[in-house]
Amino acid sequence: METIHVPVMVNEVLQSFKGLNGIFLDCTVGLGGHAEALLKNFQESVVVGLDVDEEALAIAKQRLAEYEKQGRVYLFNCSYVDAVDVLKTLKIDKVVGILMDLGVSTLQLVKSERGFSFLMDGPLDMRMNKNQSLTAYDVVNKWDEDELRRIIFEYGEEKRYARRIASFIVKNRPISSTSELVKVIAKALPPEAKRNRKRHFATKVFQAIRIAVNNELENLKRFLSFAPELLQVGGRIAVISFHSLEDRLVKQAFKTDSRLRVLTKKPMVPSTEEIKNNPKSRSAKLRVAERI
Ligand code: SAM
Repeated sequence: METIHVPVMVNEVLQSFKGLNGIFLDCTVGLGGHAEALLKNFQESVVVGLDVDEEALAIAKQRLAEYEKQGRVYLFNCSYVDAVDVLKTLKIDKVVGILMDLGVSTLQLVKSERGFSFLMDGPLDMRMNKNQSLTAYDVVNKWDEDELRRIIFEYGEEKRYARRIASFIVKNRPISSTSELVKVIAKALPPEAKRNRKRHFATKVFQAIRIAVNNELENLKRFLSFAPELLQVGGRIAVISFHSLEDRLVKQAFKTDSRLRVLTKKPMVPSTEEIKNNPKSRSAKLRVAERI
């Protein structure tokens, strides 16, 4: 299972933390790929890993079992916005490195029943945390048209057709599956808008709904506002983002925070070889900052 998700930009992440040793906070431990690389390459390190997705965490737990036995890994099924409380329970005051690998994991995408993929039929779910009540079904079927238009416009960056798609969704309710939603988006978009796209025509709307369901941008903003306090002086925070909304938030937060020095004027991106081997990495951007 752990090989389902190939961690992105592992070498660049390791390079970003070069010279550091101590406690790392992996905010989005997922299937444990980056955590494992950190544990292997930083021999004295300890990783505190968090994830809201209990399925992913169970896989990370197996993968990192040896390290856990050695007392080098602590895993928690919680949101990174609760990182302060987690560190408190472990009596950890500061960490030397913070890693965030945002977005969905392949585990979430390949399981049709999770409802993240527009390529497979599944229920409109999209919850990373299955204990929360809000689902994609609620957003698609219960939110009013203006709110839908806003999220499709803002979170999906579907500037031109947001109004039209929102109106088609409302007119076609109830919509109960991912494939029904794809059909409605297909109806809403004029043929040339579908033809001329580099990505699947439903990508942006699915992204918008996923961000809304999981409150992704608010959570990221909140975490970045207190993250520097968790870092010891000289410690570093590395964030991998997968779309411009996240990247913009990270860039701004790093630039305007007087506690941080930006180490990546331009974001690092995957090598051509990595993109060839793992096309899912193609939109990744890595930004790093140091606590001063
Ligand atoms: N780096 C991981 C690896 O190597 O396997 C993959 C991480 S995956 C791209 C992103 C993960 O972030 C998902 O497993 C998702 O459940 C998790 N996630 C999303 N929002 C979160 C939050 N607020 N707190 C903690 N984890 C979150």
